Amino acid sequence: MLRIAVVGSGPSGVYTAQSLLTQSAVPGLRVDVLDRLPCPYGLVRYGVAPDHEKIKSLQNNLRAVLEDERITFLGHVQIGPGGIAPEQLLGLYHAVVYCVGAAADRRLGIPGEDLPGSCSATDFVSWYSAHPDAEGNAFSPDWLDARAAVVIGAGNVAVDVARILSRGADELRPTDVPHAALDALAAGRVREVHMAARRGPSQAKFTTKELRELGALPGAEVSVDGAELALDPGYLDPSALPAAVRRNVEVLRGWAGGREPREVERLLRLRFFLRPVEILERDGRVGGVRFERTVPDGSGGVRGTGTYEDIEAQLVLRAVGYLGVPLAGLPFDASSGTVPNAAGRVLRDGVPSPGEYVAGWIKRGPTGVIGTNRPCAKETVTSLLEDAPALALRPVQGEPLDSLRESGLRPVEWRGWLDIERAEAELGQSLGRGSVKIPDWDGLLAAGLGQVPG
Ligand code: NAP
Repeated sequence: MLRIAVVGSGPSGVYTAQSLLTQSAVPGLRVDVLDRLPCPYGLVRYGVAPDHEKIKSLQNNLRAVLEDERITFLGHVQIGPGGIAPEQLLGLYHAVVYCVGAAADRRLGIPGEDLPGSCSATDFVSWYSAHPDAEGNAFSPDWLDARAAVVIGAGNVAVDVARILSRGADELRPTDVPHAALDALAAGRVREVHMAARRGPSQAKFTTKELRELGALPGAEVSVDGAELALDPGYLDPSALPAAVRRNVEVLRGWAGGREPREVERLLRLRFFLRPVEILERDGRVGGVRFERTVPDGSGGVRGTGTYEDIEAQLVLRAVGYLGVPLAGLPFDASSGTVPNAAGRVLRDGVPSPGEYVAGWIKRGPTGVIGTNRPCAKETVTSLLEDAPALALRPVQGEPLDSLRESGLRPVEWRGWLDIERAEAELGQSLGRGSVKIPDWDGLLAAGLGQVPG
């Protein structure tokens, strides 16, 4: 018998559970997938943009894994302060695999970053994804005021938020976006979205499929300044670039070459070689962003030119990357935002800690697409199964679910999650929409536990 806990039910957690089932020949294997939230699927539910239905449909694959009889989903189980400590968890399971992702966002570290109207893209994503930790009305005031928005960064998160800002509410109505967010988006007055990269097109991190979508938005025109692109040596000779980068450059060249003018509501401007140096204030809130113009330094980076450009905006979203957060009781490398590990084995003072593993972003940092988590999980599971004979000798306490309840936790089981799904379908029906996400803890727990928590 081998009893394993996987902490986190996003792609890395579910792929880890799946890998355990497929790679292991251990008889009596049991995998409990625990999550802080009452709902499974992590960033597939709370990070993938609502208009990316195809990526969202990955939930069906993750569901099939979680419905395997050897797997038990237990939501609403907090590991760390206010819940169960890692060392207690290790008393309940032969091994624990932490797949807790990278929950925080990186900051710019420039003046004005905390002005009202300046937010992280991850907060914006959480809001339109109905994450229960996001305030339901967090973006309403910004929306009602803002006519122009600046998105800082050139990764796929920047592209996601720039696209959502550039869509009309009618385009999002068929999705599961929460109703309050939809109302705020419908009332919003943003007409210009500027997405600004500090380097050039051949260093941008976004992927071509995501970039192309920006040129196919029904209500927004994308524009690129050819002079900015031309600063990039890769732009002038794309043949020397890796294929993925070359495709990005080709898409941007196409847009810079000019397009048939259309009657559109919004303009989406993609800017390059602009390094943010200050968020400007006007009337106590964001009034714009000051950028220093940059030029390539010849080795993939950029250097400042000492000339500046201000872009007026009432909403600024920084999309400059996620950051792992420490989990009390586990070692943490603050410089990389990851848990120190060797092929997934958690290292305490440089030595593998028996029974403790990591996979996903908390193991390797916030990079790659969802599928990158498969080989990452497989590597960790290979390490774990190599250690399994020794792990199986460790004594573990009785039934984990009972112990979790005795610790004061009230786990939401799989049937509770199915009740949440049903409640979301009913909510959508009452609003004349498809399934609509429940955006708050009380609503989720009322559905998942069958009662409103006290
Ligand atoms: P990312 O891909 O690392 O991009 C971060 C961007 O922020 C880069 O353009 C970076 O520029 C810029 N940046 C960092 N620090 C900056 C600063 N101080 N000032 C200005 N710009 C700065 O991160 P992400 O967009 O958060 O995405 C995280 C991961 O999730 C990625 O692997 C991404 O592909 C994935 N994801 C995928 C999808 C999808 O497949 N549809 C959607 C969302 C996210 P430099 O390159 O110059 O550092």
